[in-house]
Amino acid sequence: MQNNSSDIVWHSHQVDKAARAKLKKQKPCVLWFTGLSGSGKSTIANLLEQQLQGQAKHSYLLDGDNIRHGLCGDLGFSDRDRVENIRRISELCKLFVDAGEIVLAAFISPFRTDRAFARSLLGNQEFIEVFVDAPLAVCEERDPKGLYKKARRGEIHKFTGIDSDYQAPSDPEIRIDTASNDPQACVAQILDFLNSNGFLE
Ligand code: ADP
Repeated sequence: MQNNSSDIVWHSHQVDKAARAKLKKQKPCVLWFTGLSGSGKSTIANLLEQQLQGQAKHSYLLDGDNIRHGLCGDLGFSDRDRVENIRRISELCKLFVDAGEIVLAAFISPFRTDRAFARSLLGNQEFIEVFVDAPLAVCEERDPKGLYKKARRGEIHKFTGIDSDYQAPSDPEIRIDTASNDPQACVAQILDFLNSNGFLE
């Protein structure tokens, strides 16, 4: 969303993204984890961040539930609020990327158009879509927060996978299969991608 007021002018600063990235010895980007609740987004992002930290890489993990406590605390789960949620998060990711960080964004982000919006804001070079893939039955069986049970009992409405749609990515940069691989193997797959595409140098 652009501000249309002619009184608000964009400032260019001397220390820019490239300078910050160089200092941090990395190529900033967003790893956008999308998948059903319980598919493993937080688990994988958390483990990946520990490994990045071990390699002296600068990262920041944005987690759906945490953001909804603060920045997006005023938003619910209607389609309109979900869109606004992703819009704010995308803008936040862009700021962190500008700061030179490797951003780990873990959000269900069920709608293709929203993820496309995030991609358009960041650009293809800096937006890495990670499809955290596990069948609904597996996620429901895991049910780490008991949310599926609540949704099935009708205590939560518009729950993704139950009575709200999840639109799987058709062409993600990375797809991890958390039903067949353990978390370590999934993280290794992502690190491999980052290494082979020069993000960690
Ligand atoms: P999400 O953030 O997508 O809602 P969570 O990471 O909170 O999902 O929960 C995923 C659950 O699945 C955790 O209890 C985790 O231990 C379990 N799990 C089992 N195998 C995997 C795997 N390969 N990757 C990620 N999580 C896994």
